Amino acid sequence: MKFPTIGEIATTNVVSIERSKSVADAIKVIFENEHRNLIVVDGTLFYILTVADILNIKVQNIDLSTSLRELELLTVQTVHKDKNVLQIVDYLNCDIEHICVTNDDGSLYGIVTHTDITSSIDPETLMDNFCLQDFLKLSRRARWVKSDMKTSDLLQEMTSKQYESVVIVENFKPIGIFTTKDIIRMIKNNQNLELSVSFYMSSPVDTISKNCSVKEALEFIKEKHYKRVVVIDEEGKMSGIITQKELISLSYSRWAMLIKEHHEELTQINASLLNKSKKYEEMASTDSLTGLYNRGKFLEVYLSSYKTMQERGNSMSFILVDIDYFKKVNDTYGHNVGDEVLVLIAHELQKTLRNIDIVCRWGGEEFVVLLPATEVENAAALAEKLRAHIESLVLQKVERVTASFGVTKIYVEDDIKSVVERADKALYDAKKSGRNMVKVLL
Ligand code: GH3
Ligand code: MG
Ligand code: MG
Repeated sequence: MKFPTIGEIATTNVVSIERSKSVADAIKVIFENEHRNLIVVDGTLFYILTVADILNIKVQNIDLSTSLRELELLTVQTVHKDKNVLQIVDYLNCDIEHICVTNDDGSLYGIVTHTDITSSIDPETLMDNFCLQDFLKLSRRARWVKSDMKTSDLLQEMTSKQYESVVIVENFKPIGIFTTKDIIRMIKNNQNLELSVSFYMSSPVDTISKNCSVKEALEFIKEKHYKRVVVIDEEGKMSGIITQKELISLSYSRWAMLIKEHHEELTQINASLLNKSKKYEEMASTDSLTGLYNRGKFLEVYLSSYKTMQERGNSMSFILVDIDYFKKVNDTYGHNVGDEVLVLIAHELQKTLRNIDIVCRWGGEEFVVLLPATEVENAAALAEKLRAHIESLVLQKVERVTASFGVTKIYVEDDIKSVVERADKALYDAKKSGRNMVKVLL
């Protein structure tokens, strides 16, 4: 067993088109093959033309007779077919769905997807690809006898070799099975052991092809409640017997060997996957415009801070910030400038606050701040500091920006909903009283 090469897992019947062809030709090929994507070949360079590209071409009213050379297409990364899957795991990221697999001369051999690669590293999939034949090579003991063997001889052989079962064959084909259970039964019934085994065997016997995967064999055993499988070749001839115990232990020992052999690569994969999952986590917890925590992440942090507060009996405070007349900023300077202001304010809030404070973009032009281990008077003072700081900022494109603040205390037994409601009332009060102001509501 081994990790496959890229060539082994690649799809080889790839639909492709030469780059010298026209858009109309490409549409025809896509349509005929019912594919979503088309590989565009330009010598040893490969590109991808997607349905989205076609839609774009249509929207932009580009003439369909235009050559594909004139389009800006996305390049597809290439990898030689003999590379091991482990060597290219790092090529993958969420943007790259396809990789072109190449022959020695750089021509197109096939294509692999993200899923093909990761699933080929999955132990279950590997077991799926590992067939019984490979196992039989490892299993040394032949445990089958001809049907005309005398039962007493067989009993002797089974006892001396400690066989739990023996398959009875005729012309090399399994016709029955004889187990230690049958021996007990015969002794109990005081049967004549001089007759041939064909009188006493259980018949017929269920068999499985040697081309079956280990996984299929294990499923077969489970379904039939057997302890072993009788394996036959293409002609129905006996190939061997594998017990459930052997299947499981061999699978694990092979898997362990594989892990040992590829230890280094697996460590690297692990590191790179960890890195990726961290990146995804970051993407899921931050606001893409300002880089601050988003609301979901804030609620998570809030709950853990709240727990600490309860345990330690600390005070905790909360500030809601809303930029004043922000609609006017957008209307006067445009949405992009509005965005720039939001990024700047986010940055200034974070810069002015302490390390322990948690800032989050609550939505639109509203931010919230969680102040752990802080009395509400100190929170109000911090809010005032923020207010004055924002007011004093000299902005490049916008005249001046101010913000209003609602401050409240977080009580034991409080829930986030009522905390926000109080802060919102305080903020409303600040807005009503003329904006650019801090108000506290206990
Ligand atoms: P007030 O002083 O009463 O808060 O006035 P306001 O204009 O700030 O009022 P309101 O809260 O109703 O409007 C907020 C505006 O913020 C509306 C919306 O267009 C704008 N906005 C929300 N999210 C974004 C954003 O991501 N980027 C930009 N540029 N504007 C945004
Ligand atoms: Mg608002
Ligand atoms: Mg506002």
